[in-house]
Amino acid sequence: MLPLELPARPDDRDAWASFLVSRCDDNLDAVRRTADAIAAEPGDAARVLERWNELTVALLNATTAAGLLGQAHPDAAIRDRADAAEQAVAATTNEVRQDRRLYDALSAVDADGLDDDATRMLEMALRDFRRAGVDRDDTTRERLRDLAERDKTLSQTFERNVSDDVREVRLRPEQLDGLPDDYVEAHPVGDDGLVTITTDYPDVFPFRTFATDRDARHALYEQFDNRGWPVNDPILRELTEIRRERARLLGYDGWPDYDAEVRMIGSEAAIRDFVERLDRAAGPASDRDLATLVERQCEDLPDLASMSWADVNYYAQVVCRERLGLDAQEVRRYFAFDKVRAGLLDVTSRLFGLEYTERPDVPTWHEDVTTYDVSAEGALLGRIYLDLHPRDGKFKHAAHFPLVKGVRDVQLPQSALLCNLPRGLMTHGDVVTLFHEFGHLIHAVVGGRQHWARFSGVATERDFIEAPSQMLEEWAWDADVLASFATDDAGTPIPAELVATMRAAQEFGRGFDVRVQIFYAAISVGIHADVPDDLTSYIDDLAKHYMPFERLDGTHKHTSFGHLADEGYGSSYYTYLWSLVIAKDLFSAFDHDDLLAPDVARRYRDTVLAAGGSRDAADLVESFLGRPTNTDAFDRWLTG
Ligand SMILES: [Zn+2]
Repeated sequence: MLPLELPARPDDRDAWASFLVSRCDDNLDAVRRTADAIAAEPGDAARVLERWNELTVALLNATTAAGLLGQAHPDAAIRDRADAAEQAVAATTNEVRQDRRLYDALSAVDADGLDDDATRMLEMALRDFRRAGVDRDDTTRERLRDLAERDKTLSQTFERNVSDDVREVRLRPEQLDGLPDDYVEAHPVGDDGLVTITTDYPDVFPFRTFATDRDARHALYEQFDNRGWPVNDPILRELTEIRRERARLLGYDGWPDYDAEVRMIGSEAAIRDFVERLDRAAGPASDRDLATLVERQCEDLPDLASMSWADVNYYAQVVCRERLGLDAQEVRRYFAFDKVRAGLLDVTSRLFGLEYTERPDVPTWHEDVTTYDVSAEGALLGRIYLDLHPRDGKFKHAAHFPLVKGVRDVQLPQSALLCNLPRGLMTHGDVVTLFHEFGHLIHAVVGGRQHWARFSGVATERDFIEAPSQMLEEWAWDADVLASFATDDAGTPIPAELVATMRAAQEFGRGFDVRVQIFYAAISVGIHADVPDDLTSYIDDLAKHYMPFERLDGTHKHTSFGHLADEGYGSSYYTYLWSLVIAKDLFSAFDHDDLLAPDVARRYRDTVLAAGGSRDAADLVESFLGRPTNTDAFDRWLTG
């Protein structure tokens, strides 16, 4: 098996357009042909399931190619075509899931002779059919199809509006006081004597952490938290209505119940319980650290008794510098992008027994992308693409996008990371992000050898998929691991004492960080359950209850909050905290004094990652830990 090759040159529009046709249109044709074949010859169980698997492969191939290129390709015309292809894929997916002929053929399969994997695959396929309304009347099915397609269109538009809405503030040069020299050099003074700072992450994150000028921090934040405003507000509103109607047509109270049914958590009520439980658990630590922030702020602004969201990162940095002696700028010196990328590959290679071979000869969609073949024990497992810096029109956050889902003996997994990291020195937060996202890549590659495409790679319950990535973040906090690649210009590795201070600083603010995540989780489940007319005021009310900080007047976080528009997250932002609880538990099985010891890591790779979605996540975790997962490790972490 050879990896799928991409067109030779990024700027060859015709070649990319035909690539999209072959990956999307042609695969959708194959889907329809295979559906007809299943319908024409139902009966033989093995043949029906194998054909169903072929159909699934074709559908996934169309989905992934369109999804990646719509976010990554540098040519807007190709991105538009990919978006259109994604629409067509969504339409075909709905057609398939509502195809009564297929449902009947699969329902008629006698599960008796099937092995565990095939039985599970069949059960999940039938569940997917029912969740798409296959057993409803024609009118209902048609309405469900229209709603699902409209959902897709709106969420694409939402994401595109965020990507296109790069805002900026124009500042006087002295308003960059506090920022690192390389940042200041990268933002020269214009002819009018002002400096432009955009809302792209490499501009915003250091600015909110280091800029001493409060007005400037607020001005930038106001722009940042208004991306997508006002245009995305009615879009999100309509999305919540559509999802409620979809859920109700299928007999659920609302979207969160419908969505949670196929996750570990199970129901809206369980999400709300989880949110409340964590909010209470995080409360004391959050209050304590918030008081410290406000106290420090009082030295600068004696009359201010609350802490603005736009000032949190700055004062957290100041407190950690003054009280713990942590100099975040000093930390950055050790994190040159090239060394971090090389170190990440080295660490994960040793840990998981993988080999990466750089393939500069292999074509990609942009010259920034670095490509590696991944192998283990001499066998090629798949190919990965690292597309790590911002550019116009590209996805604005950090995420993993599969290009090809791996299927045993059929196709190798190929996956990309799209991030927005700086080209020079990175913050430690950037390093953690990169380790996190890379965790998804490894999951996709190592789990890409399932027979049933439905189980390939990152295919577990959606509220588990962050756990492997959140666990890999731990390696970016370990002194020995960091010292293996993080060196300054003179080649001196990052000192263990500095990492110890960074860890102490990370403990500071943990409670309020969790509460901010709880606030986001409450927005996500809340707007989908309650479908409020006025999102801004609804979210303001939630903020009063959950948000430990004052938000800036006139900002609208929800209009750039891509997870809300993405059906895969929608009402399930709690996922990040839910997986974090599991990640802490998984991590407790490793030897914290020797994180590069390969035995536990290999066992984890083979038990949890390689299984993809072939078993329930709770079972995978239990086989690795030798006991059911629990919250002890998380509770210890939270309370320090
Ligand atoms: Zn993630």
